[in-house]
Formats: sequence, C-alpha cells, structure tokens
Amino acid sequence: AFDFGLARADLVKQAGLIDGEWVQADGGRTVDVTDPATGQAIATVPHMGRAETERAIAGAAAALPAWRARTARERAQVLRRWADLMLAHQDDLGRLMTLEQGKPLAEARGEIAYAASFLEWFAEETKRVDGEVLQPQRAGQRIVVLRQPIGVCAAITPWNFPAAMITRKVGPALAAGCTIVVKPAELTPLSAFALGVLAIEAGLPPGVLQIVTGDAPAIGAALCESDVVRKLSFTGSTGVGRILMQQCAPTIKKLSLELGGNAPLIVFDDADLETAVQGIVASKFRNAGQTCVCANRIYVQSGIHDALVERLVQAVEAMPVGNGLDAGVTQGPLIDARAVAKVRQHIDDALTQGAQLRTGGQAHALGGTFFTPTVITGVTQAMRVAREETFGPLAPIFRFETEEEAVAMANATEFGLAAYLFTEDRRRLWRVSEQLETGMVGINTGLISNEVAPFGGVKQSGLGREGSRHGIEDYLELKYLCLQD
Ligand code: ADP
Repeated sequence: AFDFGLARADLVKQAGLIDGEWVQADGGRTVDVTDPATGQAIATVPHMGRAETERAIAGAAAALPAWRARTARERAQVLRRWADLMLAHQDDLGRLMTLEQGKPLAEARGEIAYAASFLEWFAEETKRVDGEVLQPQRAGQRIVVLRQPIGVCAAITPWNFPAAMITRKVGPALAAGCTIVVKPAELTPLSAFALGVLAIEAGLPPGVLQIVTGDAPAIGAALCESDVVRKLSFTGSTGVGRILMQQCAPTIKKLSLELGGNAPLIVFDDADLETAVQGIVASKFRNAGQTCVCANRIYVQSGIHDALVERLVQAVEAMPVGNGLDAGVTQGPLIDARAVAKVRQHIDDALTQGAQLRTGGQAHALGGTFFTPTVITGVTQAMRVAREETFGPLAPIFRFETEEEAVAMANATEFGLAAYLFTEDRRRLWRVSEQLETGMVGINTGLISNEVAPFGGVKQSGLGREGSRHGIEDYLELKYLCLQD
C-alpha cells in the first residue's frame, strides 16, 4: 500500500460513509485515486451508484428529526469541535490534499484553515437563526415567522478545493439543522473521507453527514430525482450545473449553484505597478490557475501595458514549478491530461490569431501534467480565451485605451463570478466596481475568498451565496404563523 506519511494513518479512509459506517460499493466496485504529480495510483475507493445513494438519502432522512431537534448551541459545539480537529490535523490534511490534488503544500494547508473557518463561522451563526414577530393586521392577531431547516440536503463538490467546497456547504447545512449527503469529486475523495473521520470524532451523529463516491451521473441523478432531498448545492462547471438544474425541475428542488467564471482583471494606467503584478500572480496562478475566481482575461491600459508585461513575465518566470510536496514550489501539476489539453488549445488558438508568446507556452520538463506558467500578449475578444475559462496557468493580456472600453469588454461574457481592478483613483474604483456584472469584485487585490463575505456569482455563474451570514439562508425555509385569539 502507498505510504501517505501522515502522523495519523487512520485519516486515510478508502470507503464511503453511510449511517456512521465506512462502507464499500455494492458488488465491491472500486476506482483508483491518482497523485497528479507522479501519475501513481495512491488509493482505491468505492465506485458507488444509485442504490448506495438512495440508502444514504434514507439514512439522512432518518437522522434528520433528532439533529434538527438539538439546540443551536449543541449543534454549534459539534461544528466547533470539528473545526478544531481540522486545525489540529492541518499538516496531515494538507499533505493528503497535495497528494490527491497536486496543489503546493502551503496552499493545501491554507485551504484546510479556510475550510475549517466555515465550520467555525456557521457554528457561530447557528445561534442567530432567529424568527420574527410582525405587526398584527387586526385586533387579537399575532403574526410570527419561523426559520426552519429545509430538510435533507445534497452537495456535489469539485476537485479544485477538495475540503473547503465541502465545509462551505456542510457547515451551514448542519448549523441550520439539516442533514446532508455529499458527493465529492471522484478525483479527490480522500480529503472528503478524512473530514468524515474528524466529523465522527467531533461527535456528529450517524446519518447527519453521508459521503458517497463513484459514478457522478448516477449519484447526481439519484440526488436530484429524490423528493426526500429538498435542496441541492453544487459547485462545478456551468454545463453540469445546467444538467442538475434540469434534473431538479420535476421535484422543484431548491438550488445553490456556484458555476464557472471568466474573471476579468483590469489594470488602469493609474494603478500601482507592483500591486497589480502581485495581484495578477495571486489571482491567476493560485492552484496553477485552477480556481473559478482566477483571473481569466487581463485587460491592461496602454500607458502601463509594456511596463506591466515586463514585470509580470519576470514574476512568472520566478515561480518554482514542481511536486507540491517539495519546499518552495508554488506551481504544482495540473489535475489531469484534459486540463493540460485545454491550456494548450487556448494558447494555440491565440497564437494562430496573432497573439505573442512572452514566456512559457509548453509542457514542463518534469513531464506528466506539469505545464510552464505562460504569459501571452496581443490577445483579442475574438480568441477562445476571451470566452472560455482556461482553468490553467495562462495569463492572457489584452490592451485597452478607455475605461468604457474596458468595462464593456469585461462584461461581454455570459459569466459573472469575480472581477478585479487595479487603480489608485477612488472615483474610478467606485464607478467601475458598480458597473461590473459580477457577484464579487477585488479592488487592488487578487485574493477575495473568506468565510465572512458572500461568495457567489450572477448571470450564468450561479445562484445563491455561500459563506457570510447570508450563507445559511439557503438552508432555511420561512414559515409564517398567523394566530387569532
Ligand atoms: P470540472 O470540469 O471542474 O471537473 P464538473 O462540473 O465536471 O467540473 O465537476 C464538478 C462535480 O460535478 C464533480 O463532483 C463531478 O463528479 C460532478 N459531476 C460531473 N458530472 C455530473 C453529472 N452528470 N451529474 C452529477 N454530478 C456530476
């Protein structure tokens, strides 16, 4: 067996979690988990389908009444202990994540802290899920509004944040008093299972959190079609989001969707050059460009264009590429060959249409799915990278002249998740922020994600918000009581 090198070897589980038991798939079907840095199979996990998912849903329904009936404080204590355990095992969880996902260890450890912050935050929010007493409309009347848990929930999560995308959904669901069935991405199930181990240790009762892995379309269909499941929260591609929305239509399921982005990043002539370069690097190259809020289109005003490109190329060439477990590495491998192919296609398409390669542009000498961080200039709205998310280490630079032009180009997309702008002019900063058609705007920063703020998109980037005090609303229903004397 592969040696994960963890202080606590029992954090490596190769089984699904149903009703407090670690279980295999019916018929013993399995699938391997691969380390993207080495291409080596490191674990074998159950390949479940509809039958196991239906059992998980039934178990979550059975666990609901008791969990919902606990006081907010009791639920908060479990979530709090779970967050503390994640932090106590941050090194192990980070290492496990790097091994299955590829991101540099420092980023993986950072994600564990970020993931734990959602459990802590929603543990605190639980206690503030208050109702309302409204003004009566006639004598002897009382109008009361309850906020109640929506019921059994489901979550389908992606591989790029194997821990945080789970806690950002599970935290508010459990805090609200819901139970939940989670289907983590098939590429990164080990982080999910490790969270399950710690949830049990924190005192989460059987059935409250169920984890099923395997055949995504089959599990997804079972979750969507179930009329026991009252809510689905999904983070992933817009294409799959559309399928899930359709599959949820017959049962009129509540949906939270956090889908693709195509984030514009605008640098104005009056920006601080160094701040802009650092912001581009932070936003574009985190997780090797594989996040939905990564800058996908970088618009740079003419006056600062050449100086910025020069500094950016230096900064990009200085980024160490390698196995995420190695000290100092900031660029790990891409998740798989398909991801590499997409980056290549975007580069080739741009270069054929007249863009210039400034650095990178090819497979890295390390082989496998390592790719050299790339900068291209002379990019136009006609190129694929203007319309589609690259999800890889490619920084495409567009040149623009006026603010109006930049805003129009930034908004010329069906997506609307994050946007970034760099300027020292406070009037422009407000004006442009207000005009950008996105759910989030980073101003003079490339890092915007935290548990305090509402994360989510407009247009075809999704529905609903996660994190913040708003994040729990998606897991609650209002019930209005009208009492007459
Ligand atoms: P990506 O392209 O980044 O992998 P996906 O949207 O394909 O994004 O994946 C996000 C999550 O959606 C993963 O857990 C994946 O297994 C799941 N998924 C993919 N296809 C389906 C489907 N047809 N039904 C349900 N879940 C799916």
